[in-house]
Amino acid sequence: MKDSTIRAATKVAHLGRDHADSHGFVNLPIYHGSTVLFETYQEFVESQERRQLRDQVLYGRYGTPLTFALESAIAELEGASGAITVSSGLASITAALNAFLKQGDHVLVTDSVYQPTRKYCDHVLHGFGIETTYYDPLIGSDIKSLVKSNTKVIFVESPGSQTFEVQDLPAITAVARELGVITILDNTWASPLYLKPFDLGIDISVHAATKYITGHSDAMLGIISSNEACYDRIRDSVRLSGQCAGPDPVFLGLRGLRTLPVRLQRHWQSGLKIARWLAGRAEVAKVIHPALPGDAGHEIWTRDFQGASGLFAFILQPVSETALGTLLDNAKLFGMGYSWGGYESLLIPFDPTSYRTATKWEAQGPALRIHIGLEDTDDLIEDLSRAFDAMNGS
Ligand SMILES: *Cc1c(COP(=O)(O)O)cnc(C)c1O
Repeated sequence: MKDSTIRAATKVAHLGRDHADSHGFVNLPIYHGSTVLFETYQEFVESQERRQLRDQVLYGRYGTPLTFALESAIAELEGASGAITVSSGLASITAALNAFLKQGDHVLVTDSVYQPTRKYCDHVLHGFGIETTYYDPLIGSDIKSLVKSNTKVIFVESPGSQTFEVQDLPAITAVARELGVITILDNTWASPLYLKPFDLGIDISVHAATKYITGHSDAMLGIISSNEACYDRIRDSVRLSGQCAGPDPVFLGLRGLRTLPVRLQRHWQSGLKIARWLAGRAEVAKVIHPALPGDAGHEIWTRDFQGASGLFAFILQPVSETALGTLLDNAKLFGMGYSWGGYESLLIPFDPTSYRTATKWEAQGPALRIHIGLEDTDDLIEDLSRAFDAMNGS
């Protein structure tokens, strides 16, 4: 499957199925296990030497054949040298940061970062004597002016959480390479299919596989993909902190991956359709969707991405909180809850003014994040239309 002429949709049907005995079944079995038994003393001694090699069945925490199947599939799809699974998306972020930061170091983090990442920097890293500076996501090559002698990591996330700014990743990675700084990208929105970070100079890519990769809102899972130079430090960071992904989430992640190209294409097309419809509504002041022509991030998205997922935002014209509540309560097909990337549509309000520090969020009215699932878009539009009518009448 290392054949680069084979396309992603074909690869996901075949990757990670060819290196374990599954007795003819299409899928590999789930290994529930901690202890791995060695037949002889000689094998036991040799197992200690195999610890630093990849894909070694030694102990439950180090992974099972199914874990290695998912990891190699993700690495192949994303163009990484290797990938490592952990217990959640946030765990993939913290393990990647921990691998390259120590007391006295400095990290640059985009102001549009996923909020729990910010909290980890402000509370845990700060407590360990590691300083964080947040920067404007649209900074581009000017990031150079913020790099200090002790800056070890630049953390990027594109598009940004909630607000969907598209970052100029090649401009940032060029500076990082020049100054010897490691770059970590949160690639959850695009998944390994719609952004190839290693082609853009990124060193490490992290995923909340909880979202699109698993795809059914039924598991927590994180994956860290890395280039060759960073792989060992990532693995050590994961192992030494006791991180590992459970066997069932790994199975669900690999199962989700099989249908990821089909699902993402539908999320993308349906999302764009709803985005266009929302842009035409009088109640909506602005739609923020990088795949929409005219969006602030559209040019860079077109240059760097191979597709869009189903998550974006829109800003309402000024309305009361009661009216906002009426809208949300009447959007019956849209669940209100955290996370996204499943088959179902979601709608939640957000307010970046409460946590942004490097940039100022100025919006006319309330902001909403919307996830377009796999439902029929005509039903979603009719549902939103009824919800807007209810809001207008309230
Ligand atoms: C959800 C999310 C995470 C965290 O994933 P969990 O699996 O919930 O820990 C990280 N980054 C982004 C961009 C996310 O949306």
